[in-house]
Amino acid sequence: MLITPSAALELLPFDRAINQPLAKQLVRVLQINLGKRCNLACSHCHVEAGPHRTEELTPEITQQLIDIIQQFPQLETVDLTGGAPEMNYGFRELVAAAFDNQKSIIVRSNLTIFFVEGFEDLPDFFAQHDVRVVASLPCYLAENVDRQRGSGVFDRSIEAIQRLNQLGYGQDPALQLDLVYNPPVPRDRSFSLPPAQSSLEQAYRQRLKADHNIDFNHLLTITNLPIGRTKLALRQRNLEEDYCQFLASNFNAQTLAGLMCLNQLSVDYRGYLYDCDFNQMEDIPARSPDGKMLTLADLLAANSLDLVTTVQTDRHCYGCTAGSGSSCGGAIA
Ligand code: SF4
Ligand code: SF4
Repeated sequence: MLITPSAALELLPFDRAINQPLAKQLVRVLQINLGKRCNLACSHCHVEAGPHRTEELTPEITQQLIDIIQQFPQLETVDLTGGAPEMNYGFRELVAAAFDNQKSIIVRSNLTIFFVEGFEDLPDFFAQHDVRVVASLPCYLAENVDRQRGSGVFDRSIEAIQRLNQLGYGQDPALQLDLVYNPPVPRDRSFSLPPAQSSLEQAYRQRLKADHNIDFNHLLTITNLPIGRTKLALRQRNLEEDYCQFLASNFNAQTLAGLMCLNQLSVDYRGYLYDCDFNQMEDIPARSPDGKMLTLADLLAANSLDLVTTVQTDRHCYGCTAGSGSSCGGAIA
């Protein structure tokens, strides 16, 4: 959709668009951002991760996470992200703890990490722990992927998926492999939302099978939120306000009931809690009803995961509620 410059139009605050605050539900998902170290430095990265970042979990915070995984049966899913989560302290211990406690395990992998020295055994490690692998592949064409993620990333991703397929990923029901599509960061005012998830999934399935003999389970479409490197890129092109306005103009109230922040806690490498990874990147912490920022230590002291009653929102939330909606699990509505 082409929209004209509209900096003069005031964006309706997100909390007024939704009429009433988002009520937190029982926490069932713990998303852990292990740190900012990554072997890539993608242009759309909302975490601003890269090879030279050093922030990562400490032994103390890792132990608190393991305690939480062990002590709360209500926790169904442990979702590991980063950076490249595999490169950051505590990764294998956390996967093992989640596996031993019968949690569903998600690892958000960039796949190219399989070719970095010291990480070559990751596909086997994933398969041994029934890890669901969620991997970014923003197109089925090499040139588009390499433009977004760096030269050679497409070929290495394909080789990594073929390796996962050999281990049963994409075929064995216990070994799920999902791919993630996100549109390119806008370069002008021809803004767009991701295409319909089901039809794009079909196109991916056909092309990847025909060209590379690849199998996967689901394609997840994710909207670019105006945060992190995307926000910087939009700002440099003087597009940030118009992009937010575009997202707001596509607000869909039917997405609200499926927002991932409703039953999730996101935790950073220091042990601070957020309602989602996006809020974490925008430094908007989760808060108790009396306005206190919360940590893993608070959860353990209270023996409860449910200390948050209301989700903190801001204008980037328009990215999750535009069109068919968007979450770490793909489209919502
Ligand atoms: S988008 Fe993912 S793979 Fe790319 S730099 Fe960020 S964390 Fe690393
Ligand atoms: S960014 Fe999305 S997931 Fe996070 S609080 Fe806003 S609506 Fe919820």
